Amino acid sequence: INNNKDAESPEKAKMSAMVMEELSASNIGEYLKYLSSVPNLAGTPQDLEVASWVRDRFIKGGLDEAHLVPYKVLLSYPDKNNPNQVSLLDSNGKVNFTTSGRQTPLFSSEEFSPLVQPNFNAYSANGTVEGDLVYANYGRKQDFEYLRSIGIDIRGRIVIARYGAIFRGNIVKSAEDGGALGVILFSDPKDFAPEGRSSVYPNTTRLPGMAVQSGSVLLGYGDPLTPLYPALEGAYRLPETEAPLPKIPVQPIGYDEAEILLRSMSIDNPAPEDWQGGLNTTYFLGSKSTQRKWTVRLQVRMTQKLATAYNTIGILYGREEPDRYVLVGNHMDAWTLGGIDPASGTSVLIEMARTFGHTKEKSNWRPRRTLMFCGWGAEEYGMIGSYEWAEEHAKVLIQRAVAYINVDSAMEGNYTLKSQTVPSLYSVIREAAKMVPNPNPAEVEAGRRTVFDTWLAANPDPKDPTQPRIGNLGSGSDYTVFSHVLGVPSIDVYYDYQEKAGSYPLYHTLYETYHAVANLMDPGFKYHLAVARLMAELTLSLGESVILPFDVPSYASFLEQDLAKIESRYKDVAITNGATFEHFRKAVAHFRNATEYFTNNIIPRLDLTNPLAVRKINDQLMQLERGFVDPHGLPGRPEFNHIVFAPSSVDKYSSDTFAGLVDLFKTVGNKTEAEQPGTWRQIKQHLSAISFLIGAAADSLREGF
Ligand code: GLU
Ligand code: CA
Ligand code: ZN
Ligand code: ZN
Repeated sequence: INNNKDAESPEKAKMSAMVMEELSASNIGEYLKYLSSVPNLAGTPQDLEVASWVRDRFIKGGLDEAHLVPYKVLLSYPDKNNPNQVSLLDSNGKVNFTTSGRQTPLFSSEEFSPLVQPNFNAYSANGTVEGDLVYANYGRKQDFEYLRSIGIDIRGRIVIARYGAIFRGNIVKSAEDGGALGVILFSDPKDFAPEGRSSVYPNTTRLPGMAVQSGSVLLGYGDPLTPLYPALEGAYRLPETEAPLPKIPVQPIGYDEAEILLRSMSIDNPAPEDWQGGLNTTYFLGSKSTQRKWTVRLQVRMTQKLATAYNTIGILYGREEPDRYVLVGNHMDAWTLGGIDPASGTSVLIEMARTFGHTKEKSNWRPRRTLMFCGWGAEEYGMIGSYEWAEEHAKVLIQRAVAYINVDSAMEGNYTLKSQTVPSLYSVIREAAKMVPNPNPAEVEAGRRTVFDTWLAANPDPKDPTQPRIGNLGSGSDYTVFSHVLGVPSIDVYYDYQEKAGSYPLYHTLYETYHAVANLMDPGFKYHLAVARLMAELTLSLGESVILPFDVPSYASFLEQDLAKIESRYKDVAITNGATFEHFRKAVAHFRNATEYFTNNIIPRLDLTNPLAVRKINDQLMQLERGFVDPHGLPGRPEFNHIVFAPSSVDKYSSDTFAGLVDLFKTVGNKTEAEQPGTWRQIKQHLSAISFLIGAAADSLREGF
């Protein structure tokens, strides 16, 4: 029996020890210092400067090659000299107040860069609109439904909503669909400055009142003008009017200015208790009548234009299987200084590349498989660099990519590890976390020696409290195209903070500075080092193990549990309308048997000295995830191909399982086949496709045909 990891790969254990020692926290800090000093917004000269700098680090670090990969894509910029504005007009039309449109430098010299743009949401529509305000809480679907249910109409009005629960683009989409004229987004102090105005940056990591979260409001994936195909020279580009861009203007503001706007709202409809925020005012929903005392004017001037975004791809070729790739990636572009997002991740990526390159140079070692280090461009605009590259190289990646390891912000806090991945990689991340010393001295003191120990204590899996919780991949970072389009098993990792609001307070603001990271969030870069070690361990596990360490029965468990959930929820309505889960159930049972047999009978009998036999097994393991890919896409969502995992249709950040099916069930609701035959036909069709694909994936593990 050779399911002993070390027996399988003595090289791996040795390399792991060497790599752990070599990775350096102070190197990470140095890279971060440079990266966070440059405002490298995608498509600007500073973006090219940083992408080139990363390439040079990759080469100096000892990788075999590294190059820039440019794509011409549609990006969106504010008017540098003419900031977008929100104004308050009295009943005579006199302007009483106007937002400043910029963030004030507070502490570090970098904040004074003349290259920093005024506040904006990328891909907002242009235009000036006027109306009164409706407050929509976090702008979730249920928030808009609540407003409708109590008779507050958003048509012809401007929606004001707080950041922090869902992807901002989904807030805008709901507002637009409901007929709103425009959207104002703000960060509420209840979520982002809970200790009040006296405890904020630069003294703490909490959000100051004039700080503004930038961010894209694009609901598309990759370059908006070239969906599904790479933005190559000469590629067909959609007319802008047909791209999936918002049709209404949107503007983000800080909470100091939000307070002034909220105070102007009509006081007939106080918002419910859980809609109240941390500002010194009662939050009102807006008026039911068209009478108003104050009018809000929203003025947005953006330029949408083709610009070049750069990826940096560095390669360390494998010795035994150079045509099998383990990819590790992080984006390089930032809204402003990007000290956390993305410099924390980019610094970790560069230090990993240097460590592997250095190890190769000094010890004649090469990984078993090829390692690719990927710095992505224009992620902030909609994961554009990773999408275009994956679209361009889809055929090769489908045949050769073993796994994709993603980091974005490497540390958002120092509470615990967070990870999202596919079930076959659960054991890989858990084992890797056991190898990494705990960066938190208090936790070590309490007897939790490793990253795993804290992870398990902080966040046990409700389904199995002996294991830490692992999430499903949604979207919002560069793993999306690899996992949900190509079916490359992907994993996302970072160190998280404890509070529950959507992001760390300084997220996407001007104040993501070196000071914030080096003095407030991670002095000594110990948590950065822990994430680097964890990712290096993952990389070795996937790049160096003779047999790919995929736990395929774990996928079966996941499917069983998820099927049970969906069935208990929708079985009755399905049966009433002539749809059945029977084949779905059979397919999952078949998948269970096939994965068990493969793991317990095939792999242990394998002759590890026979390279062809090893390769055959590894190919089956690598391809299993591809089995879940439906080339025709999900119903109504041709851009997503993975039948099990997809971003939620109502929140780009979060994940839905069997989204194709669940969305159809939600659409049909309680309507019968007679009332909505089209949707029921789609449900039956998709149930049948899912059952077929799961069965076919299982068959791919067979020994013979
Ligand atoms: N990571 C970026 C954000 O959260 C882009 C996400 C996306 O476009 O999906 O704003
Ligand atoms: Ca494209
Ligand atoms: Zn990011
Ligand atoms: Zn970001």
